[in-house]
Amino acid sequence: MPKTSSKDKRDKDDLWRNFPKTAPEFEARFATEADCIAYWIEARWGGTPACAKCQGTRLWTERDGILFECRDCGHQTSLTSGTLLEKTRKPFKVWFRAVFEISSRRNGISAKDLERIMGFGSYKTAWTWLHKIRAALVTPDREPLSKGVEIDEAFVGGKRAGKSMVLVATETDGRIRLAHALTNDAETLKAFVDASVAPETTVTSDGHAGYNATSLGERDHDAIVQTPAERRVKDSLQTIHWTVSQLKRWLLGTHAGAVKPRYLQAYLDEFAFRWNRRKTNGVGRIAARTIGNLVNHAPLTIRAIIQGATPYPHFVAAKYTVPELTA
Ligand SMILES: [Zn+2]
Repeated sequence: MPKTSSKDKRDKDDLWRNFPKTAPEFEARFATEADCIAYWIEARWGGTPACAKCQGTRLWTERDGILFECRDCGHQTSLTSGTLLEKTRKPFKVWFRAVFEISSRRNGISAKDLERIMGFGSYKTAWTWLHKIRAALVTPDREPLSKGVEIDEAFVGGKRAGKSMVLVATETDGRIRLAHALTNDAETLKAFVDASVAPETTVTSDGHAGYNATSLGERDHDAIVQTPAERRVKDSLQTIHWTVSQLKRWLLGTHAGAVKPRYLQAYLDEFAFRWNRRKTNGVGRIAARTIGNLVNHAPLTIRAIIQGATPYPHFVAAKYTVPELTA
């Protein structure tokens, strides 16, 4: 362990802890472009920029501090190269503002609203920014669900024929997992369950035949078939039905029902991320971590966003093809 590690950690913690939590605090803290650049340098290099090629710190500063040339190897490193903000033409101040807007809204924001709030000239710009910031916002949950797990399928979006299937798992205390699936056969369910539900867990489902020893493995299983009347008295999948109703409201409310199947998984990831943190993480913490992830995430082009629209990562490719691009 290098001697500086505990200090580095403390500095990173300070970046989180001291991040503004309200709009006025944010305005004061990031009043100028220089304020944002100083923060970015702190988040990316712990305060001292380094050459991206040789890690040397003897640098000439060029173009008002957004470009560095290495005095040892001659390599040029920009503030944004190799990060999610690579090749951006917009100031950091605008990016920070967008991150704060997205982080501080409990229900997130649509591309249309981001376009309006930020005064962007085009919907495409707002849409691209939102996808990039979403990639930095959402971090996967590592702890599998283990308490009072319910599992079910739901259908969201579109008219009847165009609806997309979503596999849903919930925990009693409210944590959730969501996957956009094309089928609900036992093999697909198994990929979802193995990635989402701890092995020694009792799973409650409805009577769907796909919930069996193939999909659930050794887990204890309560398959409960209810009539609508019985469900009104005591719904055995109450948590999941409540969660799905909120998911549908979010897709219809924040996103005006405009999410295309191709991009649905990214939206499900955002919903699950916000839902799983609704009681714990403050605005400042989420915004600070998002900027940290903008630094650490590899660049993402519009082309990559469109072509690589993320499928649920645990499905084998044959069970999930990215839905076609439609106009
Ligand atoms: Zn160098």
